[in-house]
Amino acid sequence: AEIDALRTSHITEYPDFPTPGVLFRDITPLLRDAAALRAVIRWWTTLLPEGIEYVVGTEARGFVLGAPLAYELGAGFIPVRKAGKLPGRPAGLKYDLEYGSAEIQIPENSLPAGARTLVVDDLLATGGTAAATIELTRRFDVELLGASFLIELEGLGGRDQLPGVPLSAVWTL
Ligand code: 5GP
Repeated sequence: AEIDALRTSHITEYPDFPTPGVLFRDITPLLRDAAALRAVIRWWTTLLPEGIEYVVGTEARGFVLGAPLAYELGAGFIPVRKAGKLPGRPAGLKYDLEYGSAEIQIPENSLPAGARTLVVDDLLATGGTAAATIELTRRFDVELLGASFLIELEGLGGRDQLPGVPLSAVWTL
């Protein structure tokens, strides 16, 4: 109940951002409130499977939330970045967006085979970003324990893009 109340008080909805017809959920008020941020991160860890060794987070809000989650779990953190920002020979994947395409990359030598891994992002909408992140993560032959989100938007088909992946969310809208 306390966590539920934080959603209405600490997530701001912006109609028609970044494009007309989209209702954007802004997590900035949650991030700036020390007590609320700590309460949500700690609650979130209670929803997760046991034994997570690595948290994979997607640029940019997947970093902001994934790193404190990893720290709290005693796990490592792997950043999945937009193309062109990682040194060495990162593994990359192009994926389709509603208009056009995007490319993300994961650092070379990120994950040992069999590593118990959780994918994290702030929000699940159509599932394209999470599906691409999971596909990249799987290149390392990990044991994918699931994917978890601060917010899951129901009705946009996100879950259908992630068949067989255990999903959880702090808030489902
Ligand atoms: P999807 O790929 O599931 O359609 O969109 C999810 C991705 O877009 C996530 O990386 C998320 O950060 C971003 N995103 C889409 N809509 C929103 C929103 O309303 N609020 C926030 N904070 N992020 C969003």
